[in-house]
Amino acid sequence: MQIQTPYYLIDERKLLKNMKKIEYVRKHSGAKSVLALKCFSTWSVFPLMSKYMDGTTSSSLFEAKLGYEKFGKETHAFSVAYSKDDIQALKKISDKVIFNSVSQLNMFYKDVKNIKLGLRVNPGVSYSHFDLADPARKYSRLGEFDVKKVLSALDKISGVMFHYNCENSDFESFSKMLDLIAKKYEKVLQKVDWVSLGGGLYFTKEGYPLDKFCNKLKEFSAKYGVQVYLEPGESAITQTCELVTSVLDIVHNGKDIAIVDASTEAHMLDLLIYKTPAKIAEKLGKNEYIIAGRSCLAGDVFGTYKLAAKLKVGSKIRFVDAAGYTMVKKNWFNGVKMPAIVVKRLNGKTEIVRQFEYKDFEKNLS
Ligand SMILES: *Cc1c(COP(=O)(O)O)cnc(C)c1O
Repeated sequence: MQIQTPYYLIDERKLLKNMKKIEYVRKHSGAKSVLALKCFSTWSVFPLMSKYMDGTTSSSLFEAKLGYEKFGKETHAFSVAYSKDDIQALKKISDKVIFNSVSQLNMFYKDVKNIKLGLRVNPGVSYSHFDLADPARKYSRLGEFDVKKVLSALDKISGVMFHYNCENSDFESFSKMLDLIAKKYEKVLQKVDWVSLGGGLYFTKEGYPLDKFCNKLKEFSAKYGVQVYLEPGESAITQTCELVTSVLDIVHNGKDIAIVDASTEAHMLDLLIYKTPAKIAEKLGKNEYIIAGRSCLAGDVFGTYKLAAKLKVGSKIRFVDAAGYTMVKKNWFNGVKMPAIVVKRLNGKTEIVRQFEYKDFEKNLS
């Protein structure tokens, strides 16, 4: 099938590989995994994912609602700060409500006391390549720091959440930090029923020591008598999606610059935020091109690549790893045509699950 570019292409067979690893971790460690919707909310593939994962976790009411409606199983609610209205709506659909602070827990306790409640704790240690994404950065507002305050909340909560990793593929660092946390919060861990270790662990990556990881989780769970949860976002969907584009023009200014029918700012925003080049699927060689987007932003550049093929108008460029923190952030900047969403199903059939048109752009504002 010839599909018009641009489009995001999610491959369910690739997704299944990650899901099998998540299933393996559950089987060998007992840890449940809930999908972090802030990373990936493309619900057309939730029927597949929900066979292998235990539910969803969220950063807002709308995400929690989406998880409840489209994914099912356990719905964990989290928000850096809930409003009163959020709480009224969430208490009808959530299996767990996790608070970011003791003050919010106290503020809403009487409304939600019949649901399992949790508190996010900021352990003061973290793993992140970027200050912007470092949950334990200086003056961080993410989670309660003070051990005494956490202890004072124990009569209201049944669990705690520590989210302190970001793209951590280093098992040893995870393991050491978990030991530190266990020591610092021992009294807390002895009293709660469940502990979420958050997301940011790249355990589906090729070569990750899965068995060591499982043993570590199992040990932790047994020692404190807790159900462990993981909240994978990126590691659930890594390497499963491409953004497929076509070259619209090639211009020259010191270098050859190929302009494609997509935009970093509109369709892969994190490249700009974290100043990282896009990864591409094309064969490398000796023809150098800057590959750039079609928005009017001067820095709308995917990267510079030496390609095997000479590009011409109509050549396809596929950007890989286009699932996490991409589709959830796409926007209508410049009114650039929005990539369709295409899913390659397990049976090999390709399905266009969503196409966008002028009306969607118009309806985005009023
Ligand atoms: C972002 C986030 C996740 C998911 O992180 P990934 O790096 O995508 O795995 C999980 N839990 C919380 C609390 C988060 O903020």
